[in-house]
Amino acid sequence: MPTADASLTMRLYSTKNTSRFVSLQQAVFKGLPEDNGLYMPEHLSHLPEGFVKKLKDYSFQEIGFEVCRHLFAGAIPDADIKGIIEKSITFPAPLVRLDDETFILELFHGPSLAFKDFGARFMAQLMSYFNQEEGRELVILVATSGDTGGAVAAGFYKTPGIKVVILYPSGKVSHLQEKQLTTLGENITAIEVAGTFDDCQALVKKAFLDEGLTSSIRLSSANSINIARLIPQSFYYFEAYKQLEEDGKPLVFCVPSGNFGNLTAGLFAKAMGLPIHRFIAATNANDVVPEYLESGVFTPRPSVPTLSNAMDVGNPSNFSRMLDLYGSTWNNLKKIIAGYAFSDEQTRFALKEVFEKYAYVIDPHGAVGYLAFRQFQKEHPGAKGVILETAHPSKFLPDVEAILQKKIDVPERLAVLAKKDKHAVQMGIEFGPFKEWLLQSF
Ligand SMILES: *Cc1c(COP(=O)(O)O)cnc(C)c1O
Repeated sequence: MPTADASLTMRLYSTKNTSRFVSLQQAVFKGLPEDNGLYMPEHLSHLPEGFVKKLKDYSFQEIGFEVCRHLFAGAIPDADIKGIIEKSITFPAPLVRLDDETFILELFHGPSLAFKDFGARFMAQLMSYFNQEEGRELVILVATSGDTGGAVAAGFYKTPGIKVVILYPSGKVSHLQEKQLTTLGENITAIEVAGTFDDCQALVKKAFLDEGLTSSIRLSSANSINIARLIPQSFYYFEAYKQLEEDGKPLVFCVPSGNFGNLTAGLFAKAMGLPIHRFIAATNANDVVPEYLESGVFTPRPSVPTLSNAMDVGNPSNFSRMLDLYGSTWNNLKKIIAGYAFSDEQTRFALKEVFEKYAYVIDPHGAVGYLAFRQFQKEHPGAKGVILETAHPSKFLPDVEAILQKKIDVPERLAVLAKKDKHAVQMGIEFGPFKEWLLQSF
């Protein structure tokens, strides 16, 4: 981390070059620095004294506002931050008690039923805000293998000045995922590509490199490593803390992880003064980070498929941000984060246990978190844990119903999708027709 200097307004550096800075606006539109590092806020200092002590007086939106105002340090006027928050933090993050030491933070109350809704909505609002100055329509291109596309589509839906084009591989996303992409309409267009996810990604990459396109259309991406997605994810750590009673027990947050964006956002909250004792990195068989915490050696490898498939990541993209925060030192990171990995068999068992003991239906990702917190408790008796429930169990309906041997409730917002009509533009894998379509459409 670079040392603080006198400049006030928020700036960001690349994890690969800590002495060259960009503005928040540049970081949001670029997504990734040219050097292939990741953008990090220059200052992650404590919020004003008293904020954490008085958290119970703040609504979730007010917490978001205070965190942003502190972090942005004048990059956006207060009244505008307020508008961005009011349009992006539109659903709650309630805490559910399992027992005196175990709590579940439900992050699935948004439109796509996963925590990614927070990041996608906030990024959409920030982009729309910064794009006003440009006076030109912005076209976001995204390739998706399923989940991210749904959150991005819902997050950007009806956002002024922004159109979204989502490419997905035909026949390779689930029925409900396809509905999430193809039924919104308005400023969201889905393209069904007769190919694989890699073909979709190749089309998007070629578009960004094509001067004929970039000179006539203002293109951007909605990359999952965009700093705008991490910032709102730090809000709900404060929101969880607010809902707990202070009892002197050391507080840990247990985070089911894939690319480690959620956990990194928790590290941001801690750096901004939230009294978090430790974090638990909970993974499935894709255990590169727990292995690193154990051995000090980071060995990325191809991912393996599991029951908790949103965490099937073999080379977690936010790992470099975690290292950067702790001076790239294994010992420092190990003090703050404990790591555990679990098999699908253990995950199934935990899902059943949570239902039988607490009458709570947890999803496979949350179940991995539950296992990790129980393991941590064995090694650290007396700890109080908040387990992040990253998705609604009905997103994984066939698996969850098979494990519990019972029907589970599907929220209305998911159930209505099944009845809506699909609209998608059909496309092959050649770049020419895709380019033509873009030029004619925008
Ligand atoms: C994306 C996702 C994760 C992993 O989150 P990261 O921030 O990538 O670690 C976990 N659970 C669910 C349901 C997800 O969609």
